[in-house]
Amino acid sequence: MLKIIDLHASVEGKEILRGINLEVKAGEVHAIMGPNGSGKSTLANVIAGKEEYEVEKGQILLEGEDIDELSADERAHKGVFLSFQYPIEIPGVSVTNFIKTAINANRKANGLDDMPAKDMLKMIREKSEMLAIDRKFLSRSLNEGFSGGEKKRNEIFQMAMLEPKLAILDETDSGLDIDALRIVADGVNALKTKDNAVIVITHYQRLLDHIIPDFVHVLHEGRIVKSGSKELAHKLEEKGYDWIKEEVELD
Ligand code: ADP
Ligand code: MG
Ligand code: MG
Repeated sequence: MLKIIDLHASVEGKEILRGINLEVKAGEVHAIMGPNGSGKSTLANVIAGKEEYEVEKGQILLEGEDIDELSADERAHKGVFLSFQYPIEIPGVSVTNFIKTAINANRKANGLDDMPAKDMLKMIREKSEMLAIDRKFLSRSLNEGFSGGEKKRNEIFQMAMLEPKLAILDETDSGLDIDALRIVADGVNALKTKDNAVIVITHYQRLLDHIIPDFVHVLHEGRIVKSGSKELAHKLEEKGYDWIKEEVELD
């Protein structure tokens, strides 16, 4: 699904990612952890193709195709989904209308006609039921007056509707209360199939009590310095990141 080879990337002329290697196969959930400022969000943004981030060296392959030259929109159309850390408010545009527009834009980019209204409604019904989303919520204005939990619910609903091949959830260190955590975890667990892959970026282990990752990677100063199973996340919760920094310095 995703293969990253010796990726070096910078922002505003400063090198942040310094040789990332990562392979994510279909059906897998990978967690990326690491101290603040280690480059986790940068990695997410580089994969998604955000303009401010410059790839200096290395490759990002999506299903074997080098996506370096593709814009963020083009990557989204190929099935890359990056959760929004700071969701925008769009007064007058409902949750449902926003998602319909996004789905049809995706289809158009892939040479398909608009999804028939009947199919769209069916999909909305199925996915909202699966995620226990209230009907009334779907007709509300996008993010206007949404609570933290509602923003998360909207984000996960968008992800469910767009059915990405590769979903990247960049969970900021703050603002995830227990309800929001549940929504994210239930959403990811409900959407996981053998054909898609999920990268969950998180500073804290607690999200990983609910989303069981197949692999955990620790980012430190722009490099993956340790990879392991979910046990690694538990060890980090217990012991913090300092022992990893010490290990890196010994090398
Ligand atoms: P993390 O998500 O692990 O906390 P980030 O990827 O956000 O780390 O940040 C890594 C480093 O890159 C930090 O030093 C941060 O200041 C810098 N950085 C990230 N994004 C930008 C940006 N858009 N402009 C300037 N500096 C940035
Ligand atoms: Mg940060
Ligand atoms: Mg971050």
